[in-house]
Amino acid sequence: MASILNADLHCHSVVSDGTLTPEALAERASANGVDLWSLTDHDEIGGQQRAAAAAAASGMRYLTGAEISVTFIGKTVHIVGLGFDAGNAQLLAGLANTRGGREQRAREMAEGLAKVGIPGCYEGALAYVGNPDLISRTHFARHLVESGVCKDTHEVFRRFLTDGKPGFVPHRWASLGEAVRWITEAGGVAVIAHPARYDFTANEEFALLTEFIGHGGQAVEVVTGSHTAAEQVRYAQVAQEHGLAASRGSDFHSPEESHTDLGRLPLLPGHLRPVWELLAHRIQ
Ligand code: AMP
Ligand code: MN
Ligand code: MN
Ligand code: MN
Repeated sequence: MASILNADLHCHSVVSDGTLTPEALAERASANGVDLWSLTDHDEIGGQQRAAAAAAASGMRYLTGAEISVTFIGKTVHIVGLGFDAGNAQLLAGLANTRGGREQRAREMAEGLAKVGIPGCYEGALAYVGNPDLISRTHFARHLVESGVCKDTHEVFRRFLTDGKPGFVPHRWASLGEAVRWITEAGGVAVIAHPARYDFTANEEFALLTEFIGHGGQAVEVVTGSHTAAEQVRYAQVAQEHGLAASRGSDFHSPEESHTDLGRLPLLPGHLRPVWELLAHRIQ
């Protein structure tokens, strides 16, 4: 398969912090010309069967997917897993553990917001949650927009939900080695998600790349909804320099919030090895 494939290997449904069902996402992806799709909910694979069935019904090929939250040198990094066996017991247990602290974290986030005069945010955020196991900052952001505290989710993150702000609670997710192992030992490929979005120095980024590869990670997102054109060029170079395959995905969450729609992003640069070439045997 050439890089001209319209592959979208990163998006979210109501099973995590997206607003559409797996079926509605499949329909939208297919209408936008996606050939190969993956639903990559945060820390959760409960939507995989529905997504695979909906992909088949829409004539798209499918790869299983998840986006795992990782703590690396004290910062949160996201690792996308693609093409794993969704029944793998170690992966299921690891994801369940990763989800485990979210409710307590959400209660502490609400306490922080109450202290700056915004009460009731836990209950407010819960009203937007599709999966009770997966309350995320995105649900708080939707509540704070709908209740008129901020004009959009971006403003919520900037003022309230990022490191040092009143609704931010430091959290310990999976380790990098755990996430990569859960994915690869379940037959999948691990991918560093949106590498330009981490606040890393050059040395820290080098450490992430080399440790990721050391653990068996094989790919990096080059074309994503959260990269600028210049960032795409930079991570195309990074992929080549480190011998990593390249992935492509919109990171679509919602028609109202996401500026990049499913499948509507540049093709992978032709000189890179597409991640789906490593996964030909796992495509459904
Ligand atoms: P959590 O896993 O609960 O920490 O939430 C992380 C999610 O918040 C990400 O997957 C994004 O969907 C969303 N997010 C993070 N930063 C921003 C931002 N600056 N603007 C809008 N959404 C964001
Ligand atoms: Mn998200
Ligand atoms: Mn992410
Ligand atoms: Mn994502």
